[in-house]
Amino acid sequence: MKFWPRRRPPAAPEPERANPTRIAVLEHDLLGIPPEPGSAAALVVALRRTGTCVEHEPVETTTFGEARLTGLCTRCGAAMVEEEGEWRVATA
Ligand SMILES: [Zn+2]
Repeated sequence: MKFWPRRRPPAAPEPERANPTRIAVLEHDLLGIPPEPGSAAALVVALRRTGTCVEHEPVETTTFGEARLTGLCTRCGAAMVEEEGEWRVATA
Protein backbone atom coordinates (compact mmCIF):
# COMPACT_ATOMS: atom_id res chain seq x y z
CA MET A 1 0.00 0.00 0.00
CA LYS A 2 1.26 3.39 -1.04
CA PHE A 3 0.16 6.46 0.91
CA TRP A 4 2.38 9.06 -0.58
CA PRO A 5 3.17 9.54 -4.20
CA ARG A 6 6.79 9.05 -4.78
CA ARG A 7 8.64 12.23 -5.37
CA ARG A 8 10.39 12.42 -8.65
CA PRO A 9 14.01 13.36 -8.41
CA PRO A 10 14.60 16.79 -9.92
CA ALA A 11 15.49 16.63 -13.57
CA ALA A 12 19.16 16.91 -14.24
CA PRO A 13 20.03 20.34 -15.59
CA GLU A 14 20.69 20.57 -19.30
CA PRO A 15 24.38 20.21 -19.94
CA GLU A 16 25.69 23.60 -20.92
CA ARG A 17 26.33 23.72 -24.61
CA ALA A 18 29.25 25.78 -25.71
CA ASN A 19 28.34 28.19 -28.44
CA PRO A 20 30.63 27.40 -31.40
CA THR A 21 30.57 31.01 -32.55
CA ARG A 22 31.61 32.20 -29.12
CA ILE A 23 34.38 29.63 -29.02
CA ALA A 24 35.67 30.72 -32.41
CA VAL A 25 35.59 34.38 -31.38
CA LEU A 26 37.44 33.57 -28.16
CA GLU A 27 39.99 31.54 -30.10
CA HIS A 28 40.52 34.59 -32.28
CA ASP A 29 40.83 36.93 -29.30
CA LEU A 30 43.01 34.80 -27.08
CA LEU A 31 44.99 32.63 -29.43
CA GLY A 32 44.90 34.62 -32.66
CA ILE A 33 43.29 31.78 -34.58
CA PRO A 34 41.38 33.29 -37.52
CA PRO A 35 37.74 32.17 -37.68
CA GLU A 36 36.57 30.12 -40.64
CA PRO A 37 35.78 32.46 -43.55
CA GLY A 38 32.07 32.98 -44.01
CA SER A 39 31.19 31.74 -40.56
CA ALA A 40 29.25 33.72 -38.00
CA ALA A 41 32.43 34.14 -36.00
CA ALA A 42 34.20 35.68 -38.97
CA LEU A 43 31.32 38.14 -39.28
CA VAL A 44 31.53 39.03 -35.62
CA VAL A 45 35.24 39.70 -35.87
CA ALA A 46 34.81 41.70 -39.10
CA LEU A 47 32.01 43.83 -37.68
CA ARG A 48 34.03 44.44 -34.59
CA ARG A 49 36.96 45.64 -36.66
CA THR A 50 34.81 48.31 -38.29
CA GLY A 51 33.55 49.38 -34.92
CA THR A 52 29.91 48.65 -34.33
CA CYS A 53 29.25 51.08 -31.53
CA VAL A 54 28.05 54.61 -32.06
CA GLU A 55 30.69 56.08 -29.83
CA HIS A 56 33.72 54.13 -28.76
CA GLU A 57 34.68 53.99 -25.11
CA PRO A 58 38.40 53.41 -25.17
CA VAL A 59 40.41 52.20 -22.24
CA GLU A 60 44.10 52.67 -22.37
CA THR A 61 46.09 49.47 -22.53
CA THR A 62 49.44 50.91 -23.46
CA THR A 63 52.37 48.76 -22.42
CA PHE A 64 55.99 49.66 -22.09
CA GLY A 65 57.79 50.06 -25.36
CA GLU A 66 54.80 51.26 -27.33
CA ALA A 67 55.43 54.53 -29.11
CA ARG A 68 51.86 55.81 -28.88
CA LEU A 69 48.91 55.29 -26.63
CA THR A 70 46.94 52.19 -27.48
CA GLY A 71 43.66 51.03 -26.11
CA LEU A 72 40.58 48.91 -26.51
CA CYS A 73 36.97 49.93 -26.82
CA THR A 74 35.04 48.60 -23.85
CA ARG A 75 31.90 48.24 -25.95
CA CYS A 76 32.95 46.63 -29.21
CA GLY A 77 36.48 45.48 -28.40
CA ALA A 78 38.03 47.39 -31.28
CA ALA A 79 41.71 48.14 -31.00
CA MET A 80 42.25 51.87 -30.81
CA VAL A 81 45.15 54.28 -30.92
CA GLU A 82 45.40 57.84 -29.77
CA GLU A 83 46.46 60.28 -32.43
CA GLU A 84 46.68 63.99 -31.81
CA GLY A 85 44.66 63.73 -28.64
CA GLU A 86 41.87 61.74 -30.25
CA TRP A 87 41.08 58.04 -30.07
CA ARG A 88 40.71 56.32 -33.40
CA VAL A 89 40.12 52.74 -34.41
CA ALA A 90 43.47 51.22 -35.19
CA THR A 91 43.89 50.21 -38.80
CA ALA A 92 45.79 47.08 -39.85
ZN1 LIG B 1 33.68 50.70 -29.90
